[in-house]
Amino acid sequence: MEDSYRHKGMRRKLVNEIRKKGILDEKILDAIYRVPRHLFLDSGFLGYAYEDNPFPIGSGQTISQPYTVAFQTELLNVKPGTKILEIGTGSGYQACVLASLGADVYSIERQKKLYEKACDLLPRLGFDIHLFYGDGYLGLPDYAPFDGILITAAAPDIPQCLFDQLQIGGVLVSPVGSGGIQTMYRFTKEKNGTISKEKFGSFRFVPLLKDKADD
Ligand code: SAH
Repeated sequence: MEDSYRHKGMRRKLVNEIRKKGILDEKILDAIYRVPRHLFLDSGFLGYAYEDNPFPIGSGQTISQPYTVAFQTELLNVKPGTKILEIGTGSGYQACVLASLGADVYSIERQKKLYEKACDLLPRLGFDIHLFYGDGYLGLPDYAPFDGILITAAAPDIPQCLFDQLQIGGVLVSPVGSGGIQTMYRFTKEKNGTISKEKFGSFRFVPLLKDKADD
């Protein structure tokens, strides 16, 4: 669980790279600087931890590219105390970036092994995140409403029940599409309860799958 000056130096470079790609919110860049991404990968992959790329984390899943993590975070308008539901905990890295910004984070994962790994790692890193094993398609109705919902897997379409779990004024950020490349959308729940949407470029995510995995 070492986080040395060398790791911090590598993160500083990564932050500069992401800034050059257009992420300008210094609070988000600082959160990327503070979360030790190498500890979310199996040891031995240090060389890859601070490249701006996605990386395999087991169970056929990937930790998102740091630029994508920063980009989705920016679309969520996180402030201290903002209550966020993340669908697709994966390694837990994105959840920790949100928590570093002061968000109250709820995160759900359908792969038991990844869920268990995050349950072990996140508290050891000092993060207090509400982790759930289950089908993110259903959201977490018992804990709704949320100020923001973040889907970190590609959804062919957004289930209505997730919009139902959004606060008025809240936003849902998700890559949408069923092919290899998806379009990033931000949906906003307006005062009258209708949903408006904005489009933000192309990304590549693993698919959002229905039901829990049977492992
Ligand atoms: N946010 C992660 C990256 C996640 S990759 C990180 O920072 O590391 C997408 C994750 O979504 C995978 O772990 C996958 O198992 C999970 N997933 C896919 N479909 C899901 C569903 N229906 N409910 C919950 N999690 C799901």
